[in-house]
Amino acid sequence: MTTTFEKMGLSTALLHILQGQGIVTPTPVQEKAIPTLLAGEDAVVQAQTGTGKTLAFLLPIMEKIRTDRPDAQALIITPTRELAIQITAEARKLAAAREGMSVLAAYGGQDVERQLRKLQNGTQLVIGTPGRLLDHLRRGSLTLGSVRTLVLDEADQMLHMGFLAEVEDIITRVPRSRQTMLFSATMPDNVKRLAKTYMNQPHDIRVADNSR
Ligand code: ADP
Ligand code: MG
Repeated sequence: MTTTFEKMGLSTALLHILQGQGIVTPTPVQEKAIPTLLAGEDAVVQAQTGTGKTLAFLLPIMEKIRTDRPDAQALIITPTRELAIQITAEARKLAAAREGMSVLAAYGGQDVERQLRKLQNGTQLVIGTPGRLLDHLRRGSLTLGSVRTLVLDEADQMLHMGFLAEVEDIITRVPRSRQTMLFSATMPDNVKRLAKTYMNQPHDIRVADNSR
């Protein structure tokens, strides 16, 4: 069964931006995950690399963020600066649908002062790597008290790279009354444990390896 983004109830402004990029038909993982995520439920989403997981979490986030407030409402933790840059670029394209929406990338190697200025000016969506996010949290330049959506992207890679302690340190600073989404290509025991510890009755969404 093939659906469209339109049938999922996404806002017209977002649909237009997707159409402008030639994106009309959801991939299988988007088709399965987006309705659950739009409904505000937690989900553990397992699908191979290249299956479109980024839009699966960015679209629901874009619908949920309130642009009349300047504080961080959604946080995406991703293992590498390359991924942070990639997700930020996609998020900024979508953010054109939401006036007054600001997206911040927080990763190491980039001028921390620039990130600090941007945080002071208010940014509703923060995308970062564990080390730099903790750096901001310890400086007090980033606070997570208003975060209602938390995304753990490429969770298997993140734990494989040894970020468990950092990720846990960040998660425990996010209010419990939140939606948590975990995305991973594989589901080793340490990722299952992370989901079990920090998520609220997550839906188990899986897409077969040969499906795209
Ligand atoms: P993953 O995170 O699962 O590895 P990405 O989210 O990076 O995959 O998506 C891989 C590529 O597929 C990107 O270039 C993205 O723009 C493209 N893409 C995602 N969703 C769609 C879609 N519904 N239709 C067409 N292309 C898509
Ligand atoms: Mg990805």
